[in-house]
Amino acid sequence: MKDDLQALLDPQPFDYEALMQCVTALSKRHSFLEFNYLGNSILGRGIPLLRLGNGKRKVLYVGTHHGMEWITSLVLMRFVKDLCECYQNHGSFYKNASELFLQTHTLYIVPMLNPDGVEYQIHGICDSNPLHDRLLTMNNGNEDFSKWQANARGVDLNHNYDAGFEEYKRLESENGITGGCATRFSGEAPESEPEVASMCNFIRFHTDLCGILTLHTQGKEIFYKSGGIAPTRSTTIAKKIATVSGYRLSEAEGLASYGGLTDWCVQKRGLASFTLECGKGTNPLPLSEYFPIYTDLRKLLFTFPTFL
Ligand SMILES: [Zn+2]
Repeated sequence: MKDDLQALLDPQPFDYEALMQCVTALSKRHSFLEFNYLGNSILGRGIPLLRLGNGKRKVLYVGTHHGMEWITSLVLMRFVKDLCECYQNHGSFYKNASELFLQTHTLYIVPMLNPDGVEYQIHGICDSNPLHDRLLTMNNGNEDFSKWQANARGVDLNHNYDAGFEEYKRLESENGITGGCATRFSGEAPESEPEVASMCNFIRFHTDLCGILTLHTQGKEIFYKSGGIAPTRSTTIAKKIATVSGYRLSEAEGLASYGGLTDWCVQKRGLASFTLECGKGTNPLPLSEYFPIYTDLRKLLFTFPTFL
């Protein structure tokens, strides 16, 4: 019989409750897995922050900026479970002894930055939601929220970072986006959203971070430049990521080129930062993409810290 943890990580819609059960079960089972909160979402959900290892080389993995992309939280939790089990059993992976790996590296993982958006996407909005009527208007009167990408009040978190915000505002209005909606509204000001502010504060505080991987869906692509530029060493690392994952290197265009976490890390922090567009298909990706994505990215997730 499968244990509870395994059952939680089966292919199924991964809402906030499933995430929290999974995080709780894993941290109970493995005392070396540290569980904290990055901050809170608009609707007060704690955003889990996990840490593994105590080494000097520190990396951060981030999943689910967008409501439709919770499959990336499943992938990250699956990875955390596999790494925890490997370490617990004094095992090795891809020629790395897990004990030495976690002595020399620290992994921070934020599996679901946008829990409110995920809840809307999977369950819709309930009558008790304090923003209920405003949200219906933002969603063009439609009660179907299955295409919702933004946070609880219609801000697209991956356009709320302080990177080309003014330019983006201009493009936004040219594209008819004038306020909160399902996707691509950047908010009133950079870091206006608590989810993004918490992420930025974490990165500002952890000045010794040396690399960031952010998972989105879809396209099997890797983005690492912002406005055509990237930290010098990023190109070499991006090529390694491409080799290990089979994904191709790309450059963002139009609305996609402003205000993202990778843009901010590259422009304002000079950090080697990479956006992976996982899997292939139409968002939200079907659950049948879960194992193929994990198969493509497993080696990368385990070995990325050693590239830096
Ligand atoms: Zn996304």
